Amino acid sequence: MMAPTPVLELKAVERRYDEGGRKLVILDGADFSLARGEMVALVAPSGAGKSTLLHTAGLLERPDGGDVVVSGRSCSGLCDDERTAIRRNEIGFVYQFHHLLPEFTALENVMMPQLVRGLDAAQASQRAMQLLDYMKIGARAEHRPSELSGGEQQRVAIARAVANAPLILLADEPTGNLDPATASYVFDALEALVRQSGLSALIATHNHELAARMDRRVTLAEGKIVDF
Ligand code: ADP
Repeated sequence: MMAPTPVLELKAVERRYDEGGRKLVILDGADFSLARGEMVALVAPSGAGKSTLLHTAGLLERPDGGDVVVSGRSCSGLCDDERTAIRRNEIGFVYQFHHLLPEFTALENVMMPQLVRGLDAAQASQRAMQLLDYMKIGARAEHRPSELSGGEQQRVAIARAVANAPLILLADEPTGNLDPATASYVFDALEALVRQSGLSALIATHNHELAARMDRRVTLAEGKIVDF
């Protein structure tokens, strides 16, 4: 039997920065594969290239070489509009800081990506409310980000990331800004959502306890992605 197509693959990905004439090599022939439903922790020290890896995998940055393959579709030859469409439909992103729009409510923030995709407001609102309820934050739906705690803001950001039912969730230290008890609570909700929806997730974290709860752990070593 043929193995199922991974939802995300990095193939010999290169990524380097020019820093005042000095070449900084971050990814150097990096290979990675994420299976459907798999939850993988990316554990590496600050500055190792976790954000670079996630941004490249999430089609926010183009690699200098190699390919990113989403659901079997090679993205290296695609134009920006095609990459944006794949990112919008297939990939959800959560950052360390919530990046919610301050002038909109929690509900509106979760509706937004759905409206951008063309859903009508009633449908978007209904799904947004379901997701907020699932993240146990439905009671705060009408509040703006500034009226929410850090843990609540991150739960809204997670709901927003999955609003368009992506295949892949990429998260860059989603609980890195929270105290340990809140981090654990937010991660519980994130994990339940991923497990229940069959999403695949690559989650950068410094927290070894949270990393231990995922299916697999990887790190960055000399520009490559290796088991940890
Ligand atoms: P991490 O997320 O693991 O902290 P990053 O991917 O943010 O690591 O950064 C990896 C390295 O690349 C760091 O040394 C950082 O200073 C450098 N870097 C990141 N982005 C840029 C950029 N746009 N230009 C130059 N150097 C960068």
